[in-house]
Amino acid sequence: MSARNQMRAMVDQLMGTGRNGETSRYQVQFNDQKVCKSFLLYCCPHDTLSSTRMDIGECPKLHDNALRADFKKAQQKFDHYYDVDATEHLKAFISNCDRRAEGARKRLLETQEELTAEVAEKANAVHELAEKIGKKLAKAEELGAQGLVDDSLKLMGEIEDLQKKKKEAQDIYKNAMPKSSYLRKQLRVCDVCSAYLGVHDSDQRLIDHFGGKLHLGFVEIREKLSELEKNYEERHEARRKFYEQERYKRDDKRSHRSKSGDQNEHHRRSRSRSRHSRHCSRSHSRSQTHKHDRRDRDRRRY
Ligand SMILES: [Zn+2]
Ligand SMILES: [Zn+2]
Repeated sequence: MSARNQMRAMVDQLMGTGRNGETSRYQVQFNDQKVCKSFLLYCCPHDTLSSTRMDIGECPKLHDNALRADFKKAQQKFDHYYDVDATEHLKAFISNCDRRAEGARKRLLETQEELTAEVAEKANAVHELAEKIGKKLAKAEELGAQGLVDDSLKLMGEIEDLQKKKKEAQDIYKNAMPKSSYLRKQLRVCDVCSAYLGVHDSDQRLIDHFGGKLHLGFVEIREKLSELEKNYEERHEARRKFYEQERYKRDDKRSHRSKSGDQNEHHRRSRSRSRHSRHCSRSHSRSQTHKHDRRDRDRRRY
């Protein structure tokens, strides 16, 4: 993004759509169906996973910083319940990913030699330790980058212990199966981001995976979803009641208006009735004329 665009985005974020009377730039308002509610709440997966290996492309709905600023202001006045929509969006997204991961797991089972339950358990032990190591390594690297050297070193100590345990688990696994099968790559699907992980992955690969944008993006989306889901039922019900009340209010206003306008209404109706009959008689006479025309024409033809 150019510096100019960056500046513009920042101002949008602060001021909303109304600045400099720029409303014409915006064909929609923040509450339009076309606007992404998850974006308004900073949790659209399309943003979180942008420029990762699993780039899912642009969100089909509108993302705009200025609309988000408008929403923030409006939300202060009354509750819009957009978290309910965001929960449903993230839930659909994650269950779609989980379904795909399940498919990948099935394909793996078909292509990889099936392990006996006993050996599979041993392979799992290696995977679990690798996962712990990978997460801690990524964290240690992050702490180091933040200058928190002591915390980072403490973590490195824990990692060394885990590495010893992993080595042991690997030996047990290796001895449990024939050499040819052991050498073949044993893969598994990451529960969080559904990327493939290997039993023999190096520490660097583990850091790249567990500290990588894709895996961490999924961690973020899943955490956000479980946070949103805690209040989902309650919020969903509150939204339903809110809409119901709004409907009552509207109906009430309408019936009130029609009561107070009874006199006028009567007058208007009688007027419109006379206009109606006038119209009818006119159209009647027109159709009569048509008939005459047709008759004339028919006569001419013969
Ligand atoms: Zn979006
Ligand atoms: Zn992962």
